Amino acid sequence: MVHETGYYDLLGVSPTASPEEIKKAYRKLALKYHPDKNPSEGERFKHISQAYEVLSDAQKRDLYDQGGEQAIKEGHSGGSSPMDIFNMFFGGGGRMQRERRGKNVVHQLGVPLEEMYNGTTRKLGLQKNFICEKCEGIGGKKGALEKCSSCKGKGVQIRVQQIGPGMLQQIQSMCADCQGKGEKFNAKDRCKNCHGHKVERKKKILEVHIDKGMKDGQKITFHGEGDEEPGLEPGDVIIVLDQKEHPLFQRQEDNLVMKMNIKIAEALCGFKRTIQTLDNRTLIISSLPGEVIKHGDIKCVQNEGMPIYKEPFDKGQLFIHFQVEFPEKGWLPEHLMFQLERLLPPREDVMLTDDMEEVDLCEVEAHKQQRNQSREAYEEEEDEEGSRGGVQCQTQ
Ligand SMILES: [Zn+2]
Ligand SMILES: [Zn+2]
Repeated sequence: MVHETGYYDLLGVSPTASPEEIKKAYRKLALKYHPDKNPSEGERFKHISQAYEVLSDAQKRDLYDQGGEQAIKEGHSGGSSPMDIFNMFFGGGGRMQRERRGKNVVHQLGVPLEEMYNGTTRKLGLQKNFICEKCEGIGGKKGALEKCSSCKGKGVQIRVQQIGPGMLQQIQSMCADCQGKGEKFNAKDRCKNCHGHKVERKKKILEVHIDKGMKDGQKITFHGEGDEEPGLEPGDVIIVLDQKEHPLFQRQEDNLVMKMNIKIAEALCGFKRTIQTLDNRTLIISSLPGEVIKHGDIKCVQNEGMPIYKEPFDKGQLFIHFQVEFPEKGWLPEHLMFQLERLLPPREDVMLTDDMEEVDLCEVEAHKQQRNQSREAYEEEEDEEGSRGGVQCQTQ
C-alpha cells in the first residue's frame, strides 16, 4: 500500500514502476536538468536525485512506500550528493582519480529501434573547448603575466553592501577581471585568438558506432574527448543511447513483441499473414484451418527478435500477441444465426426457476467520470486494464 507518491511523481513514474522504468526516468530527467545544461534548475536536479536514490534501492523504496519521506529521514541521515549519484549512474569514475581531470560530459542520443537492429554509425557534432593553438593555453605572450590590478592579485573582490539601517554585509566574489587567478595579461600581450581564455570553442565530430543489439541506456564512452583545459587531463564524453518507441515492435531485452489483430474467421479457420521485419524482410506466418487462435494468445517465431549484442548472428524471439476482432452488432441477419450456431460448439442449457431475479444487462460508459465513494478502491484495481474514470450503468 503506497501512501505517499511524491518521489514517484518527481520521476514521473507510477508507484508500481519496475526498477528499469525508474532507471530510465531518472536517466532522462537527470540529463535534462543537469546544472551544466540547465543551471536554473539546480533544485529540481537535487530533488530528482533524492527521489532516485530512494526508489532505486529496494530497501529504501519499501521504507518510503510504508512511511513516506518522514521514514526515510528518520531511517538514515545525509544521503549522497546529487552529483555523486549522477556520476555513479553515468559512469563518471572514482572521484579521487578525477581530481586532476576535467568534467565528463554526458549526451543522450535518440536511436530508432531499426538502428539498434541493423547497426549504424551516427555522426555527432559537438561544441567543445580546445587548448588555444596560438598561445598553447597560456592566454598571452609568455612571461607577460602581470598581477591583476582590480583585485591586487588576490583573485577575489570584496564589496560592502548596506542591508539595513546600520547593517553592513561583506560580499566576496571571484574577481571578474582575472577570473580569480590573481594575474592577467595586459591588453597588448593577450592572445588575440582566445582573448586570454586559453581555450577556444570549436566543433568536433564524433563517430558513434551503434552495434547490432545495443540497448536502451547503453553507454558509449569517448575517452579524453571532454573539454580541454590547461593543466587538466580532459574528461570523457559519454553518449547514452535512448531507444525511441517503435510503432509496431516493443522490445523486451533481446525479444520483440508485437500485436496482431485477426478477424474471427482467421482465428477459427486459419490464416496467412505477413510481417515486415526491422531489416525489411517479409516473413509469412500461418495458422492451419481448425487450429484455433484465441483472443490474447501469444505465439512466437524463433530467431526473429533483436540481434544479441556482440553475437549478432543469434537473435531473440519474436512474440506475437493475437487480438481477435469480433464482428459488430447486427453483422449477420437474424435468420442466419441459426445456421451459424449449428456450426459452432453447442451451448450449455440454463435451468431457470421462479425464485431467480431477471435484471437488465447495461452498457458500461467508461468515458463518463463519476467520483463516488468507491473511487479510490476502484482506482487501485483498474491499473492493469488502463481504463480511466468511473463506471456508470446506463439506464434507459
Ligand atoms: Zn583580479
Ligand atoms: Zn590563445
